[in-house]
Amino acid sequence: MNAAVTTELKLISHWIGGEIVRGGSGRRGPVYNPATGEQTGEVEFATVEEVGRAVAVAKETFFSTWRGWSLSKRQELFFRIYNLVDAHRDDIARILTAEHGKVLSDAHGEVQRGLEVIEYVCGIPELLKGDYSEQASTGIDVYSIRQPLGVVAGITPFNFPAMVPMWMWAPAIACGNTFVLKPSEKDPSASLFVAELLKEAGLPNGVFNVVQGDKVAVDALLEHPDVSAISFVGSTPIARYVYENGTKHGKRVQALGGAKNHMIVLPDADVEMAADAAVSAGYGSAGERCMAVSVVVAVGDVADPLVDAIRERLPKVKVGDGFDPESEMGPLVTREHRDKVASYLESGPAQGATLVADGRETAPDGGGFFLGVSLLDNVTPEMDAYRDEIFGPVLSVVRVKTYDEALRLVNENPYGNGVALFTRDGGVARQFQFDVNVGMVGINVPIPVPVAYYSFGGWKSSLFGDRHIYGPEGIDFYTRTKAVTSRWPDPATSKVDLGFPQTR
Ligand code: NAD
Repeated sequence: MNAAVTTELKLISHWIGGEIVRGGSGRRGPVYNPATGEQTGEVEFATVEEVGRAVAVAKETFFSTWRGWSLSKRQELFFRIYNLVDAHRDDIARILTAEHGKVLSDAHGEVQRGLEVIEYVCGIPELLKGDYSEQASTGIDVYSIRQPLGVVAGITPFNFPAMVPMWMWAPAIACGNTFVLKPSEKDPSASLFVAELLKEAGLPNGVFNVVQGDKVAVDALLEHPDVSAISFVGSTPIARYVYENGTKHGKRVQALGGAKNHMIVLPDADVEMAADAAVSAGYGSAGERCMAVSVVVAVGDVADPLVDAIRERLPKVKVGDGFDPESEMGPLVTREHRDKVASYLESGPAQGATLVADGRETAPDGGGFFLGVSLLDNVTPEMDAYRDEIFGPVLSVVRVKTYDEALRLVNENPYGNGVALFTRDGGVARQFQFDVNVGMVGINVPIPVPVAYYSFGGWKSSLFGDRHIYGPEGIDFYTRTKAVTSRWPDPATSKVDLGFPQTR
């Protein structure tokens, strides 16, 4: 069935130099309300020239304006940005629910985790302090300063249309860079709303720019000689592509990719608490979170009671329109994605898994892109449901005999974003954090997204590049250091010396 098309589609365009700029490519993509299946908007896809225009404005603004702004002025501005975003939380959350489909409470949670990064960079004068070594050699001092890179770009995924861009533009701009954002074409409106807020807060025009688009815009950013660095968040194949092509063109790149997050439950764990966590982390945001739990690894005797406890909870999860305050889980982002996720409910049982809960039977009727909560038991590592990042409300249970087997499973998985261990044994938990090859670890915490003053990022195929996003590593990523060796000699002691510079 084709989506119903409303008569008045909202046109979503670019934001360059502090104003909306209509595109000229004639290429556009549909934006839907996932809860109804209706197309609500059309987003313009930028040409190479339009991306070039955004980069040129960002470059000009960097040199003419932004580079000269003092730390205290930037700090004051970021307090204003914080207050404005805070005051408009609900407006932003509503835009997210309208285009992404997530329930409003979850959309508020997204805005909150973005705001926390804005809050962190309000301390930018402290964060950019350099080092100073007095008398490194006689009469010579050495110090390092952190300087911005220039024009930097962010390319973001559909699942966090406000938060992930905030994780990029807030530290990038606070560090003194100008910024070009290429949001997901599936839910692009939040970026324009935030652009208006930044302008209202007093950010000079041209510091923050948005180009809407697809691969054409991404490639234009990757190849543009005036873009110094690229932050990317999205799926692993595109993250790898962005990393390889961005670095080939001489850019600094951090490219965060997909995930397959395991939650190991040991026999000594509190089964009720583990089941609550599995359901919350497996189905929250309809599983469209890079930190969602996708696989529960049940160790030994815990498997039967744990699967029973999860199954009991599933009928109570209320699936519906994200604007309905009763809803706990919304639709998936597009019809194609919903159908792909649902296909694992065919392939799983065909490959030997047990279908415990079939979300096709419990999805709300109507044109929305819904799939109910689904559970596959007896999943094994060679099945598609285990190997693929499903990114939807399909939770798999893998049964293993020992802790060592569970650890091996996690460490052999190509992804390494998040992992959780549920146990009452502190010694095992400590050994686990020592041994596990994953970037973000939860001990009895199912979605271990680090707080804003740490950094976020996975290992293995979940991140290409060597700097995690936000926190101290985000500040590192958006700055480069300059080391200055300085002498203010006493003219009386000056002489010609052709020897190698000595430090002692
Ligand atoms: P995606 O990779 O399809 O798209 C991400 C961005 O890349 C979008 O802006 C898109 O327009 C662009 N893009 C898509 N195809 C492209 C191509 N062929 N060439 C150049 N650019 C292209 O990802 P998505 O579906 O929007 O988001 C979901 C994915 O993001 C999941 O895999 C999820 O795990 C991942 N994700 C990871 C993290 C993390 O922190 N590691 C966080 C959020 C989402």
